[in-house]
This record gives sequence, C-alpha cells and structure tokens, in this order.
Amino acid sequence: MISTKVLVVGAGIAGLSAACLLQEAGITDVVILEASDRIGGRIHTVMLGDDGMPIEMGANWIHGCSLDNSVFAIADQIGAITPYRLINRASSRFMREDGSEIERETVLKAYYMYKTVEREMHDMMRQLKAESGKQQFIPLNHYRRLLEKERDLQKTDNNIEDIIRVHNALLNYVRFHEGNELEEVAWEGGSMWAIPEGGDVHLPYGYHQVLQYLVRKLPVNLVKLNSAVVKIAYGGNVRNKKVHVNTTNGEQYETDHVVITCSIGYLKKHCNSLFEPPLHMEKVRTINSMGMGRVNKIFLQFESPVTSPSFKNIVFAWNDTDVKQDKSAWFKRIFGFDQVFTKDNTILGWVAGEGAEYMEDLSDEEIGNTCVKILKQFMGRADLPRLKAIRVSRWCSNPYTLGSYSHQTARLTPGEQEDLARPVRCPLSKKPLLMFAGEALVNACTQGARDSGLRAASSIIQHYTTSKL
Ligand SMILES: Cc1cc2nc3c(=O)[nH]c(=O)nc-3n(C[C@H](O)[C@H](O)[C@H](O)COP(=O)(O)OP(=O)(O)OC[C@H]3O[C@@H](n4cnc5c(N)ncnc54)[C@H](O)[C@@H]3O)c2cc1C
Repeated sequence: MISTKVLVVGAGIAGLSAACLLQEAGITDVVILEASDRIGGRIHTVMLGDDGMPIEMGANWIHGCSLDNSVFAIADQIGAITPYRLINRASSRFMREDGSEIERETVLKAYYMYKTVEREMHDMMRQLKAESGKQQFIPLNHYRRLLEKERDLQKTDNNIEDIIRVHNALLNYVRFHEGNELEEVAWEGGSMWAIPEGGDVHLPYGYHQVLQYLVRKLPVNLVKLNSAVVKIAYGGNVRNKKVHVNTTNGEQYETDHVVITCSIGYLKKHCNSLFEPPLHMEKVRTINSMGMGRVNKIFLQFESPVTSPSFKNIVFAWNDTDVKQDKSAWFKRIFGFDQVFTKDNTILGWVAGEGAEYMEDLSDEEIGNTCVKILKQFMGRADLPRLKAIRVSRWCSNPYTLGSYSHQTARLTPGEQEDLARPVRCPLSKKPLLMFAGEALVNACTQGARDSGLRAASSIIQHYTTSKL
C-alpha cells in the first residue's frame, strides 16, 4: 500500500479510470469530486419513452473494435456489445426537400470529388511541412474552397445541383464528425471517411455498463456528487507541497496530488480563477488554442414505425445550408436521422456547429415540431405518425462541459496537447502535484479519455515506485 492522497476532479470515464488504476496499485486514499448529480459526464445513458429504451445523450459508439482499444476491451469482457451491432451508413439515402431521392450514381460522383479534394489537402500539408520543417494543421474550410474549385470544373454537368446538395450534406457530416463549424476546426491529415479498425460498435443496453464496471471496482462513497471544485491551490510550502482544494459546498481538502479531468470547454472559461497560483502561460495557451466542439443529438420516438429495412438512415441534402445570418435556420445543420438499434419507430438526428448551439434555446416541443416538419418534407411522407417521445441534448449550455468534444484548431501546434498533459511538479521533490486528463489530451473519444486518466494515474504511481521520498 502506498500512503498518499489523491483527489480526482470529475467522475467521467477519465476520472473513474484514473481512480481504479490508483486503487489497483495500492493507493487507496482517493476521492473523486463530481460537480453534477451523477457520474459519467459525457457518457450519459437515459431511458426513452414508456418502454424504457436505453439511449445515449453523449457518447454513442465505441470507435474501433480491437482489444487495443481500452474501452472496447472492457465492453467485450462484460458482454456490453452483445448483440454485436456495427454502424452501417452504406445504405444511407440522400433526399431532397421535395421527398425525392438523389440517384446513387450522383452521390458517388460527388463523393469521389471529395476524395480528390482530400488528396489535394494531403499534398498541401506535405508542402507546408516541407517549408516550415514541422507538421501543420490546415483549417477545414479549405475543404469547402477546394470543393468549390473542383465543382467549377464540372459546372456543365447536368446534375451539378444535386452534386452541390450531396456536398452540403457531406459537409454537415464533417461538421458533426469533427464537432464544429469548418472555420473553427483544423485538419491533421488522415481521412475524414476512414473507418476505425473493426468499425464503430453500439452498446445495445447502454454505455453506462462500462461506467458501472469501473464504479464496482471502487469503494462505496469514493465519488462525492454535487461537489464542484472552485479552487485548486498548489503553492505554499516548497519542500513538501500539499494541494488545497475547495468546493462550492464549502468543503476543503488537503491532498498530495490532483487529477483534473474537466473538459477543455470548462477549462477555457474557468482556468484563470480555478488555479492558485495561475497555471503556467504555456498551459493556458494550449487550453485557449484548443477547440471545444458543438454537437447535439435529437431522439424522436413515434407512435408507429417510420423506418423500414430499406430506409434506416436518411441524409438531408439541402440546396443551401447557410445558418450564419439566421438562427431560426438551425435545423439546416442536421446531417440526417438514423434508426436507433432495431427500433423502427425511433430515430436519432445529429446537429452540429452553430445550429447545435442555437437549438439549445428552444423547447423540446419546438425542436420536435421542426424536425417532424422537415422529416415529412424530406421523406415525402405527409402521413408521418404522431410523436410519442423526444429527448434532446444540450451540451453547450451544460455548465460542467460547455461543449461536446474537443477538436484541433489552426492556432494549435501539433503535439501541444502533450505539454498540457505534462504534470505540474513540486520544484524540490518533483512530486507530481497537478495532472491533466480527459478526452482533449489524447483524442476526442471515450477511449482517449480513459487512456488519459490511466496515464495521469501512472505518473503518480511511478513517482512512488521509482523514487524514494
Ligand atoms: C454528443 C456527443 C457524442 C459523442 N459521441 C461519442 C462516440 O460515439 N464515441 C466516443 O468514443 N466518444 C463520443 N463522445 C465523446 C465522449 O463522450 C467523451 O470523449 C468522453 O466521455 C469524455 O470523458 P472525460 O472523462 O474526459 O470527460 P467528461 O465525461 O466530461 O467528465 C468530466 C467530469 O468532470 C465534471 N466536472 C467538470 N468541472 C468540474 C468541477 N469544477 N468540479 C467537479 N467536477 C467537475 C463534469 O461534470 C464531468 O462529469 C461524444 C460526446 C458527445 C457530447
């Protein structure tokens, strides 16, 4: 057993994973302070409708079905991915506002233009790297510009209007995939359309099963809910530094180490007041340079089926997707709706960027009515059944998340997140006082969040196993 105290801020998958590893290594004096009234953070399974169907307000899939993926490994071990359901968008139908479908040939043609643009982006990136001597991020709106140039070459094509529609839909997909407006996100290479090894897998009975597995490994009462941390003071005695942590409900903790798993959205807003003394300029710069995305989900459950085996995913191919000038056009940022599991009366819509944020001011009823209206249009079905239940996420206004998931920006230098992940140490003993973890430090997924928590816990364990204090 190692005698030291650790305080973890946040009971999302990063914080829970860190606490479990510390316990396993014999560090048992651990507390997790969680600001909200539940564990899980951006993993949030709730029940929809009368039949109590589990739906995910946050993380939806495990990206990558391989035992190297630390979340997949848990889900596989506890049987949470049985029956095995991979996402399949191959049969998505691209629909116009009048309810007619764009021909497959045109969709493929538009898609191949995308792939051409992606190759150009790769060339651009290689050139920038050669000129500057280091890896660079490229703002994603280059994608749109290059696509427009590519379309200019095809402007005599009879189907050019439909090609534009498909491109509008694909750009909405990119916004949802990357988490924000194209102007705000930077690209680091790779392919936007690449499928992770093994695909994306659902957890049919809920992502919360992974959280429950972690919580079961921890002593009861280790997580303190409704305990928002407002101050982390890590100055004081330079020889044997302790960290003092205060919460909104007036509690004070003295601890040896703090693992901070707050979202990058939360840190952007609060990092100046949260730490005493203020964090090093470089860490603040990285926090401010990273992007916090805006993505929301809309679940609609109808009284009778709305999907069929040949129509499980609908993609909205708008003729124009401009929402900038008009908040009331938020719905033009909905990429489309997918059937939820095998339920043919329940669909999930994804909305990203400005539309996702604007939507949060509206009531569920208003959002539901708007979605039904556009579904009737795009599905060509004036007879859509009555809506039975609706659930909408509001991640941008959640005070402890302030956004959905992190993304790169052109302000960020590749590798900069590594600086943020580096522990803040006591100058004399080199004891790691503050460790940052959370999805933003590895990748925007649950796996990245878990791995970052494990890494932070390992820094503490290593300190005691490799040094004699
Ligand atoms: C709409 C949406 C869809 C997503 N889809 C996927 C997907 O399909 N697959 C995937 O892998 N990932 C997905 N993600 C991302 C995934 O949910 C996150 O990467 C992951 O859950 C983040 O975990 P975390 O522990 O880093 O942060 P969080 O889950 O945000 O946990 C941080 C915790 O800290 C708490 N906290 C914040 N401030 C304080 C404070 N001052 N004091 C105390 N507690 C505090 C918060 O309340 C929160 O519980 C999605 C996210 C969203 C929003």
